[in-house]
Amino acid sequence: MHDVVMAAQVNPYHMAVQQFELAAEKLGLSEDMREILRRPKRELIVNFPVRLDNGHIKTFIGYRVQHNVSRGPAKGGIRYSPAVTLDEVKALAMWMTWKCAVVGIPYGGAKGGVICDPKSMNTAELERMTRRYTSEIAIMIGPHSDIPAPDVNTNAQVMAWIMDTYSMHEGFSVPAVVTGKPLSIGGSEGRNEATATGVLFVTRQAAKRIDMPLRGARVSIQGYGNAGATAARLFHNEGCKIIAVSDTRGGIYSESGLDPATVVRHKQERGSVVGFPRAQTLHVQDVLEVPCDILIPAATEGVITVANAEKVQARIVAEAANGPTTPEADAILFKRGILVIPDILANAGGVTVSYFEWVQDLQSFFWGVEEITQRLEVIMNRSFTAVAEKADHYHCDLRLAANMLAIARVAEATQMRGIYP
Ligand code: GLU
Repeated sequence: MHDVVMAAQVNPYHMAVQQFELAAEKLGLSEDMREILRRPKRELIVNFPVRLDNGHIKTFIGYRVQHNVSRGPAKGGIRYSPAVTLDEVKALAMWMTWKCAVVGIPYGGAKGGVICDPKSMNTAELERMTRRYTSEIAIMIGPHSDIPAPDVNTNAQVMAWIMDTYSMHEGFSVPAVVTGKPLSIGGSEGRNEATATGVLFVTRQAAKRIDMPLRGARVSIQGYGNAGATAARLFHNEGCKIIAVSDTRGGIYSESGLDPATVVRHKQERGSVVGFPRAQTLHVQDVLEVPCDILIPAATEGVITVANAEKVQARIVAEAANGPTTPEADAILFKRGILVIPDILANAGGVTVSYFEWVQDLQSFFWGVEEITQRLEVIMNRSFTAVAEKADHYHCDLRLAANMLAIARVAEATQMRGIYP
């Protein structure tokens, strides 16, 4: 499961709209089109009761937001965290729209969340909460309308409960209603590793762009959940040195490099990376500021801000998390010559393999892991090249270029379809 490293201090929706306006301005998008694209299409708030194991009932608040569906069904994960807000879910839904467009997969954007503390709940309580939340949002989700997936603090087991609950309502199995499922019920090879694999593919391209060898490169990772821990393993296998990692409780640092698999075992046993033998302890924020070659924020939004952007000491920032860098921090990093691979490109491997999973479920025909990885690499490389060419053309950072590419695609689809009625 992912870890929430810190709650966002900035409003993520304001951030997302600010990024949108920057790209819309540069594209010369009409005010009419901006009016359509800057707001989510649907926002659902549900309050639902769940019986806890102590016999008491607790009412949870959940959200599902669809930002845009011009290019296909809405797609996006569900997160469980005490820090979830409607504005956060709205921002994440908008970012999903641009993410699917930038890698050219036929989806719109959505996101869901439940305000809860999954670490203080047992498995039975999590299952009851997930099933009730699924039936509350069943009016929105479906294999051709809106397809959830894992995000912060949700995993394949949670997706299995969602698939089962939705299928019980329908009266037959509907595996394509959700992605990131276990292999045994229609999940895809490579989905668990997909986000981190995509991050590695685009980081290879970024490293080539600045003539930096990956072998021996020092990597610092904020967040040791699915994205962060898998990235640590893959970058380690690539010959990089993982010098710092963190989770919600703190960070660890070792000049000579950490062994990612041993850190995972330590976290499983102790609940945190902190206390790892022969490593220095760091504050959560410090992992963002250690001297390194590649910084991978892999936790949550709003962690690189005006307050610390001057202190980032990396050559490449590869955003495995959604929205880790504020627009003000972006400007500082760009001025300092730090290459930021923006979230909607860097972490798009997750939703890309989700798309492969959905296609396999719909045709009931499954592919091998080689085919998945090859197809993912083609899409990630092609998308990186398209974004980099745009950035060169406009002399701008990769975020603005990626947003311009994505927003132009969504605007074109919206224009072609026209306004109903
Ligand atoms: N939660 C992931 C993301 O933010 C994956 C979404 C999906 O696979 O639909 O991109």
